[in-house]
Formats: sequence, C-alpha cells, structure tokens
Amino acid sequence: MKPSVAVIGTGFGGLAAVIELKKRGFHDIVVLEKADDVGGVWRENTYPGAACDVPSPFYSYSFEPNPRWPRRFSQQPAILDYMHDVADKYDVRRHVRFGTEVTAASYDDATGKWTVELSTGDAVTVDVLVSAVGQLSRPSVPDIEGMESFAGPSFHSAEWDHDVDLTGKRVAVIGTGASAIQFVPAIQPDVAQMTIFQRTAPYLVPRLDTEFSETHQKVFEKAPVTQLVERGTWYGVTEGLSVAWVYSKALAATIRAVSKAHMKRQTKAKPGLFEKVWPTYQIGCKRILFSSDYLPALAQDNVDLETERIARITPAGVETVDGRVHEADVVIWGTGFKATEFLAPMSIKGSGGRDLHGEWREGAHAYYGMTVPHFPNLFILYGPNTNTGGGSIIYFLEAQAAYLGDYVEHLASVGAPLDVRPEVENDYDERIQGQLSDSVWTQCSSWYRNEHGRITTNWPALGRQYKSQAKFAPADYKVVAR
Ligand code: NAP
Repeated sequence: MKPSVAVIGTGFGGLAAVIELKKRGFHDIVVLEKADDVGGVWRENTYPGAACDVPSPFYSYSFEPNPRWPRRFSQQPAILDYMHDVADKYDVRRHVRFGTEVTAASYDDATGKWTVELSTGDAVTVDVLVSAVGQLSRPSVPDIEGMESFAGPSFHSAEWDHDVDLTGKRVAVIGTGASAIQFVPAIQPDVAQMTIFQRTAPYLVPRLDTEFSETHQKVFEKAPVTQLVERGTWYGVTEGLSVAWVYSKALAATIRAVSKAHMKRQTKAKPGLFEKVWPTYQIGCKRILFSSDYLPALAQDNVDLETERIARITPAGVETVDGRVHEADVVIWGTGFKATEFLAPMSIKGSGGRDLHGEWREGAHAYYGMTVPHFPNLFILYGPNTNTGGGSIIYFLEAQAAYLGDYVEHLASVGAPLDVRPEVENDYDERIQGQLSDSVWTQCSSWYRNEHGRITTNWPALGRQYKSQAKFAPADYKVVAR
C-alpha cells in the first residue's frame, strides 16, 4: 500500500514533510495552502525590519545549506526566497492547491481515511493528514474597549498594511515582543512621533549580525565545511540558551549580566530609560530578544515608552489608566499570536467522532507533539510542546519530518491505520509536564502557557534531546482493525 497524504500549510514544516515523503518514494501528496504562495509565516510577516533572530546558517534545512545568505541574521525577503528555491528544487508546488483553506477534517472508522473539507466547497480523502500550520500563524489582537472607535488605520504586525504611509505620522505601538523590537527601529526615523505601550519588558542581548560579503559567500560555496562550522557554532550557542533555562542557573545569571550591560550601555543617552526597560521577572521565562537597534531607537527624541496600562482606545488614540490620552494617527498591534490554540479554527474529528479541541479542553498534548490517541493517522508538525526556548525550530521540524517518514513507511507495510497507544501518550505527557512544572517558564505569563497556566508550547529540554528521543517505534502504536 502507498498511503495518500494531505499536508496543510507550506511553511518550513509543510515543505519539510513533503520533501521527506518524496525522498522516501511517497508521491501521492496533496498540499492545501490557504494563500497563493508557499512560505507560511515568512510569507505573511512583511513588516519593516522583519528578520530571523536565529542565524541563517542554522535557521535553514540541514540538507539544503545556502552559501548565499546575505547576512548572518537574514531578513524576511531572503528567507522567503530560500523557501521558494527549496520548493522549486524539490518540485513541491506541483502538489499544492493554492487558495485552499482547510475548514474541517474527519476520520472515518469504517474506511480508515480522513476526509478533509475545503473552503472551495470540495473535499479530499486521504490516508494520512499532516497539519503543518505552526504555532504562530494566527495574529492575536487583544479585546480592548473602544478599539473599533479609533479614527485612523490600525493593523497587526503580521498583517502590515503597506498602503498606510507612516511618514510624519504619530504612531502608537502596542506590545514589545520579538516583532515590535524589529519594526520599531525600522519605522522610527520616518514617523513624527511614536508611543510604545510596554506591558512587560523583554530582556535584550546584542545581535551579532554581519553582512556576508561576496568573498564570505564564495568561501561558504567552495568550502562547505566553513558553513557547517558556522551552523555548528550557532547550534551550540542556541542550545546553550536552553542549557541556561533548563539546567544551569549560573549560565542564566551570566546571560542576564550580559543583557544588563548591553541594555545599560544602549540606554545611557536617555535618563530614566534603563529603569523602564529593565525586566523584573526571571530571565528565560519569556523569549530573550536579540537586538542592537531597538533601545537606540527608544532613546530618540521622537519616541516615548509608556509603561502605564492601557484603559481604552478612543477615536483620538490610546487612553491609559491614569486618564491621559496619547494621541495617534495609526495604531500598530505588536501583540503576538494565538499560539496555544493548536489547529484552530479547523474542526478535527477523530475516531468515534471525537472532537480534537474538546480533547484538548485543558490544553493541547500529543506524543512528542505529533500524534494524538484516537486520531489515527493524524500527524502534527510544530505541535504541542515542541517549541524551543533557544534554538532553531527547523531543527525540530526536520526531526518530526523524519519521524513522519518512518511512520508512513510502517503504515505502508502494515496496510492499516496507526493509533498512538493512550497509555504511551499519557505517560509521555506526564513526564513532559512534570519537567515543565518547576521550569523557568512558570515564572511569568507568556504565549508559552494557556489560560489554565499549562505550558503547551515548549519542549522542556534541549533540541538534541528531542531529536534523539522522538524516534518512531511501532510498539507505541496500535494497528487499527477495520
Ligand atoms: P509576543 O512575543 O507574544 O509579544 C506580544 C507583545 O504584546 C508583548 O509585549 C505583550 O506583553 C504585548 N501585549 C499583548 N497583549 C497586550 C495587551 N492587551 N496590552 C498591552 N500589551 C499587550 O509576540 P511577537 O512579538 O509577535 O512574537 C511572537 C513570537 O513570534 C516570538 O516569540 C518568536 O517566537 C516569533 N517571532 C520570531 C521572530 C524571529 O526573529 N525569528 C520575529 C518575530 C516573531 P506581555 O509580555 O505583557 O504579554
């Protein structure tokens, strides 16, 4: 039997899944993509300054090194170009139905197949359903009183409205996460005035960015080992962050000291700024941010950092709880993503009509983030507890794609659907949640935790440990009798 597979999404996860399956001789693949191009978050996030904060030689597929990265920390257009090139090289587009959003999917116990319903009104029926929609694809805009009354344009960083000319405008920015700290310095020189509303300050460390010159690129090309060394070095540095958050208070303290020195140095020009931006929670609890241009932008005369809580949005701007109205022509939401709502808003029905979101009422969980009991042949990439507090998510995605390849090969050999054993998944989940229960990520609120406080996004240990532990074992699965 050669299983048929439907993959949802064409980000780094979806591409990795298709490439892996094709390499193993499985070509009956349909990829369902709501947009009209591949690229996932790197197609959607076009805000000024959008870039990756993991160095490109490591934030790329191990099997597709790119000697021509323009910078160490490449910007969004270069990353999207890379994804286009990879999709073309492996002939992925041939499988993709663009402009096709998945609305629902249900497993049929009688046939052992998934029926996937599409926004076009059609449906496809396959043996295996792979979700590669990621954790950070659905923008989150908080529900703040009066937001619809604002007189000017407003938009989320992931839905940047390039038709709005910010030149000479007064801009209100809500949020100070990874996205905001990239677009704030990019737009600061153009705007008349900017007020940034900070609820929780991020820890910042220097961004050791550099342009890769023509010579540098040639060296990478002619001596690929040099790029491997760069990749390996950044793998080590980013794993070091996970070591700090998970195992070593001393290393975490060292990173905090580096951050403090960096943030002190960069705020010297504006008295009182350091006190406003220096975080009070345990370092590592939220993602630390790599930036060497955010604080210098905050130190400019046309930028105000507001730490008072927002009370409401008015037609004229943003009113804080102390009654002041901060007038603005444009409001930009840098307020992140609905990270804990895995696979939403799709309706997913498994064996016996079980509803996935119902099963996940208290928080999403899956065996190594990939398979869920009673949802045979449903496979999730970048699923629950597979986010990294330090490294490159592509490293995790490759491990998951390899697992998928082994899974589909086994499925092909047994010729019947596979269902992860509930006790196997349950033991795994207890172990993971046990590790997370006294982790640094419990020390603040962040997108790593859901409304019940359960950490549903992060893997509790090192990337290397995920890669070595997340290996497909047939004994973990029941073969579903039909
Ligand atoms: P984020 O890290 O979740 O930051 C959202 C910001 O909005 C936080 O400062 C948050 O404050 C604030 N906020 C949310 N609701 C608010 C409210 N009601 N009032 C005031 N402030 C509010 O989102 P993000 O910056 O988009 O980044 C999300 C993730 O995307 C990152 O952690 C990263 O994994 C990924 N990303 C990666 C890159 C990259 O370089 N690879 C770039 C951008 C994004 P609190 O902290 O108080 O909640």
